[in-house]
Amino acid sequence: MRRILDSYEDFELAFLQKFKLNTYLEDTQSEILHYIRKERGLSSIAIDDLVMQYQAKEFTDNVPRCPRCKSAKIINTDEEFWRTGEQPGFYDEAAALDGLVGKSHYVKKQVCSICDYVLQDLNNQVGFWQRFRRALKEKIKRYVKKRGYE
Ligand SMILES: [Zn+2]
Repeated sequence: MRRILDSYEDFELAFLQKFKLNTYLEDTQSEILHYIRKERGLSSIAIDDLVMQYQAKEFTDNVPRCPRCKSAKIINTDEEFWRTGEQPGFYDEAAALDGLVGKSHYVKKQVCSICDYVLQDLNNQVGFWQRFRRALKEKIKRYVKKRGYE
């Protein structure tokens, strides 16, 4: 763990403390806190400052970064796809088919390894067809209104 924490920049430790620390077991929590305070000399005030500073920071390099903490330490995880077919679409149908033949369907989930922010999660995305239908409905409504059919 020491080696991993050593590879974190100060601001990353700040966001780790703010957003992810309480997801660890108590022993691990105090180990991390000890490291942040004693080894890196970051007080809780310094942590708050870093969080405020980096939340407002804009990077102009093209490195993919977490929108919350601006760290580039983003991990891809494979997650079992569970959403059922209430919304037609490729992933639903593929998942339904795989379900039929007893095969699990996995999709990518992108998570920030520093602050746990979820950048992409297909399981929780509004389906394309749902968005399409919603947009179409709006368009028809506006058209009808404009023509005075209502
Ligand atoms: Zn993050």
